[in-house]
Amino acid sequence: MLLNILKYPDPFLKTKAKTVDVVTDELRELLDNMLKTMYVEGGIGLAATQVGVAKRVVVLDIPITTEDEYGDEQSEQGKNVLKLVNPVITDESGETTYEEGCLSVPGVRADVKRSAELRLQAMDEDGKDVEIHATGLLAIAIQHEVDHLNGVLFIDRLGLVKRDLIKRRLKKAAAAKAEDIADAKAEKAVL
Ligand SMILES: [Zn+2]
Repeated sequence: MLLNILKYPDPFLKTKAKTVDVVTDELRELLDNMLKTMYVEGGIGLAATQVGVAKRVVVLDIPITTEDEYGDEQSEQGKNVLKLVNPVITDESGETTYEEGCLSVPGVRADVKRSAELRLQAMDEDGKDVEIHATGLLAIAIQHEVDHLNGVLFIDRLGLVKRDLIKRRLKKAAAAKAEDIADAKAEKAVL
């Protein structure tokens, strides 16, 4: 089943998600549905908060990029799937900057400063403890998703001026869209 991804400025995105006590079949189904939704929407990570569920679970799949015989980049999904329950970053070091985007903040990309390397403890989808050492894009994506579980968006990590500019633009776009929908309904009502 595909899930609906909440978009900024939906207030639910500010929710601090709750720790999962037991990994159940229902939770495994949620993780599967999140992964399917993430692929359809073209993301590399998705947190439950983004689909309106206040549970500390995230899915990730950093695609493997290789070159084909013509030198064109091919990216392969499904090799790096991570389904993490109650992820906790236990150690982080270094600094890196990456131009991030987010399925909940469509059309916006901005440079965000993060730790370059981290260690993470979590449970997998069988409820077993796992420890992950992450660098590169995986480390960045994990920090982005854990932020979602704490109600924080990547645009919240930008400088004040840039953040305000983006937020104002997004709120204006959302209001214009709501007006369009209202207009469409009004037209229908007349007919
Ligand atoms: Zn995101």
